[in-house]
Amino acid sequence: MSAKPLAASSLGLSQVGPGGVVYGVVDGFLAQIQLVGPRRKAQRLEVLFRHEGEGKEQEIRRALFEAPETKASGIKAKDVVIDSKTVRLTIRQGFLDLPDEKVILARVRALLAALAAVSSPGPQTCRSCGSASPAEVLVVKGVVDRLCPSCVERIEDEIRRAAAEYESRTANLPVGFVYALVAGAAGGAIYGGVMIATNRMLWMLAILTGVMVGYAAVKGAGKGGAVVQGMAAVVTVISVLAGLLAFIGYAAEQHLAAQGKAIDWALFLARSPQILISAREDSLFSLAGGIFGAVYAIKRARHPEFVPLRSPEKSSAGGNLLPG
Ligand SMILES: [Zn+2]
Repeated sequence: MSAKPLAASSLGLSQVGPGGVVYGVVDGFLAQIQLVGPRRKAQRLEVLFRHEGEGKEQEIRRALFEAPETKASGIKAKDVVIDSKTVRLTIRQGFLDLPDEKVILARVRALLAALAAVSSPGPQTCRSCGSASPAEVLVVKGVVDRLCPSCVERIEDEIRRAAAEYESRTANLPVGFVYALVAGAAGGAIYGGVMIATNRMLWMLAILTGVMVGYAAVKGAGKGGAVVQGMAAVVTVISVLAGLLAFIGYAAEQHLAAQGKAIDWALFLARSPQILISAREDSLFSLAGGIFGAVYAIKRARHPEFVPLRSPEKSSAGGNLLPG
């Protein structure tokens, strides 16, 4: 495994930023290249150039797709997104792997040629204050940019302070719990309500419950983290199961009402664990949905990351940009 990814070093990009994004300047344009995707088999390369091309978006696209090199390189219209400040190219996997480095470079070159013909890299000044003092190239919020030393200093300081402020907060667990319960009750009501209305159990609604509970737990507690995540996960699973229980209760009530009898709700609630166990598949489906939703709750309630501007990842993240 080489330290510098093939396509990136062929482009002359060498700096590695957060998330394994490799960045630098190519033909005067700020550029970055990043391997995105959860697994090797589902990965894609994202290439980004910054430019100053207000109003030239259509012209760039035309120049790109009129060039014979573009067609030869296999770029598709949907793989290119152009706005007034950035041009993004996605390179997707074929059947087994990403295309050959030659193909990748041909596509990037075609894009760069169109960009250079129509647009411009813009001034080499600090993005934040416009100062002309020698600006440093770095990745800010995932996008390559230029900042002057004093703006880097200031933003680094802001990030440190935000992290320290977050760290110093204590999670208000009781309030977080109450918020999570309210969101869980709403989510469970939607899950059960849709089941009553349509006789269908929907995964999406279990996930929705998880997202709502995770969001509410953090709102209430004032911060995320392991305890809030655990709480949100448990509340989500219970909420979804409660939604199923509401559906079963509704069905039982209808059934008894048809026979002129009334349901004993206290008994129903006391017996709810047994009722859920005897509902078998429905309970398993809802439990699985609830666990699925809990994953979303956990994602929502996680501790945020405070990534400093100048701490390139040393791991393999940048090293395996091009697999193989
Ligand atoms: Zn500045």
